[in-house]
Amino acid sequence: MKKLIHLIAAARPNFMKIAPLYHALCKETWAKPEIVHTGQHYDANMSDTFFRDLELPPPHHHLGIGSGSHAEQTGKVMTAYERLLEATRPSLVVVVGDVNSTMACTLATVKIKYAEKATNQSEEPQPISSSLQRPLVAHLEAGLRSFDRTMPEEINRIVTDSLADILWTPSADGDENLAREGIAVDKIVRVGNIMIDSLEMMRPKIEATNMPKQYGFKDGSYGLVTLHRPSNVDDQGQLEAICAALKKISQRMSLIFPVHPRTRKQLEHFDFWHNLKQTPNLTLSEPLPYLQFMSLVFGSRLVITDSGGVQEETTYLGIPCLTLRANTERPITVSEGTNRLCSVTTLAQHVGEVTTITKNQRKKPLMWDGCTAERVVVSIRDILHLQVEFTPSGN
Ligand code: UDP
Repeated sequence: MKKLIHLIAAARPNFMKIAPLYHALCKETWAKPEIVHTGQHYDANMSDTFFRDLELPPPHHHLGIGSGSHAEQTGKVMTAYERLLEATRPSLVVVVGDVNSTMACTLATVKIKYAEKATNQSEEPQPISSSLQRPLVAHLEAGLRSFDRTMPEEINRIVTDSLADILWTPSADGDENLAREGIAVDKIVRVGNIMIDSLEMMRPKIEATNMPKQYGFKDGSYGLVTLHRPSNVDDQGQLEAICAALKKISQRMSLIFPVHPRTRKQLEHFDFWHNLKQTPNLTLSEPLPYLQFMSLVFGSRLVITDSGGVQEETTYLGIPCLTLRANTERPITVSEGTNRLCSVTTLAQHVGEVTTITKNQRKKPLMWDGCTAERVVVSIRDILHLQVEFTPSGN
């Protein structure tokens, strides 16, 4: 019988993390991968376009949760996912990244106990350990830490990693963080960076998209901006200072800024939107589909961001990245890559210095090679075969 594997996706950064794994699992005769979309991001340009661009089928299950406070969202996902678990009984649940649904689905899975009466029904996928009577949970992109507990994502990472049965990490710092937190080493498997798989899988299409030309930009001449973290967009003073810095930079270099819905809402709320939109040499757009966005990354001279994924993509591509944050959960992008952390007051100055990002800062981190999904599949095969020796409870 095929092993039913749920791949949980909730929001924009999740889709490019499940896509390579979905495609890899579809090639395995023993695996039945199904996509569960919790519906945290639901509008077309934050969700639907990614399914199209990443060649994914429509989600097999849609929980339709929508927006809400953190507690509301977490609770709703847990309730809806618990029902789906009972109805479908997967062998393995794969959660990715650090959004509320990552934590909520992990919690729902580790707490469920399949009812006795149904565990022996012949055609239903079975939990892989009869003593557990629940599926295993694996976290893809485990071990990342910003050490900043004011970030909602950091809380989601800590809770998810402390509960997951298998922790797939992208880099050595992830392994070290988990070991420091007392996670047993046999639960930790370094697999590399799954985002890079999506990038490599889609590279021909990204290159064919040629977005810089459509905006009239020469390759290597413009800056790309993405911002959405609460620390940057929820505080009026910070957002005002960011707008001022972007205007200043646009006097030197064309900027293209695909605006996240949260950021747009805040720009409008604080009444900055109209003025920013009028700025010469600064183009505001809707959030872009993956292929279009990556095409703009490929051609950019530099990127200004607070996104986690963009820090990784720029490091992989050797493109200077200025991250408007005090910390990063992806320190390898600074120590080995092209990323620099900066404040809004130093942003314009950093833009002037990006040419000093030298060649030896353009190392590709180990196992960021487009083969992460394959390593995850091997790990899943191991876990499923070694179920008797595997000890998921405790650390
Ligand atoms: N992205 C995109 N279109 C955009 C902005 C981002 O396709 O307009 C992609 C890009 O690949 C990025 C990913 O979405 O790495 C995740 O971005 P986001 O900033 O939403 O999430 P984070 O990585 O910060 O959790």
